[in-house]
Order: sequence, then C-alpha cells, then structure tokens
Amino acid sequence: MNHYDVNPDIVLEQLKRQFDGQKPEVILADVLARFKGRITFATSFGAEDQVLTDMAVKTDPSVSIFTIDTGRLPEETFEIMSRSQAHYGIQIDQYSPDYREVEAMVNTFGPNLFYDGIEQRKQCCQVRKVSVLRRVLLGHTAWICGLRKEQSITRQGIEMVQWDEQFGLFKICPLAEWSEQQVWDYIRRHQVPYHSLHDKGYPSIGCGPCTRAVEPGQDIRSGRWWWEEPEHKECGLHWATTTAH
Ligand code: SF4
Repeated sequence: MNHYDVNPDIVLEQLKRQFDGQKPEVILADVLARFKGRITFATSFGAEDQVLTDMAVKTDPSVSIFTIDTGRLPEETFEIMSRSQAHYGIQIDQYSPDYREVEAMVNTFGPNLFYDGIEQRKQCCQVRKVSVLRRVLLGHTAWICGLRKEQSITRQGIEMVQWDEQFGLFKICPLAEWSEQQVWDYIRRHQVPYHSLHDKGYPSIGCGPCTRAVEPGQDIRSGRWWWEEPEHKECGLHWATTTAH
C-alpha cells in the first residue's frame, strides 16, 4: 500500500538526486523533517544503528525509534537497549511477535527449527521478525535502517533511498556508502554507547542462537546463520531491496 500522497516514483527520483553525495546527517535531517510523524527508525542495536540513533536524536529528539524483540535476543542486547535509552533520554519502542504464531511454530517444529534447514529458518524469521515489522510499518511513509553496501554480497545493491516493495514505503539507508571504519570512527569521536558483543568478536549481532563470533579478517556477516551459504543470509526484513537488485 502506498501511504504517500504523491507518486512515489517521482519522489524517489527527486530524493535520489538530492541525496547523491550527501552526508548521512544531512539525509537524516531531511527525511525526519519531510516525513515527520510518518517515519520510524528500526534499530537492532548494532554499531550502525547506534550511529544512526546518535545522529537522529541529535537532529530530532522526538524521533520514533523501535526494535523487534524476537524472543531469542541475547541478554547483551537488552543491556545496550537500556543503556541507550538512559544515555539519550529516549524511549525505544519494543514490539513482539504474535504469541499464537510462535506457539504454533515451536510446538510443531521445535524451539530450534532454524538449524533444520533454510525453509525452517526463514519461517522462524518470518514469524519472529518480518510479520512484526509489517505490523509496525503499517501507516508509515518511510523507515530508516542501518544497512551498508559493504556488509555482505546480499547488500551491495542497496541505496541511500529506495522504494521498499515488500512493505510499501520509502526505505532510507543513510549509511549505505559508509565503510566499517567510518562507523567506528564516528562511534569513538562521539562517544556513542555500543553493544558489548562487538568487543567479543561479533561484528554483526542478531538472535542468540543464530549469531556467533568470527575470527579477525573473516566476513562481517559470516557469524550470522553460519551454517548457510552467504547468498541466503538475510532474515526477510530486507529481501526486496538486498537480493533482487
Ligand atoms: S535469527 Fe534465528 S532465532 Fe531469530 S528469528 Fe531468525 S531464525 Fe529465528
């Protein structure tokens, strides 16, 4: 569904031209004002999301930020969630999966069905993440997320602004062109609070049973769903904008 009152293709072309070569802070300031009240930021508390939280709150302290509590997150994620809320004096809204869907899934396929095959893994991500995201994004015109092109082969096609076919709204990725170095330079320069698992060898952090530490120099997404091939490593939140383009 299109929640925007002008043809999204026209707006998309305008925004792409306008954002070309711009800094993430400039892009964020524009979209937070342009879509005010109809834009939200999805954080999972990784380094990129913490950078965007810092930038967004400094731009608009009333920015809408949310996270999906899948029910399988590591304890450290709740720790950085609390720390971020206290540090910035903000509310980060938590959304949970439909308990009936979770109960039906785990009572049929077991609690750790994701290890049984890619279809089972996608089913778990669908129930615990994608359907929740769809519910949260309903009624919004744009959402913000911390994807970077460099993160994996599935993310090389992302742009700073895209039309999200899957959920029917604009998707803003202000850090699309940034390197990992730029992310960490920003965190250190601005003393941004960050997830403690980053210091334990986790460059990318998701649900506990589907994330593990990697060796120095290994691909930064290699610790996510490590039993799968690299081209499958998306949870479904970003399928339309990361795999087909
Ligand atoms: S990352 Fe793993 S535990 Fe989390 S929703 Fe996906 S399959 Fe389920």
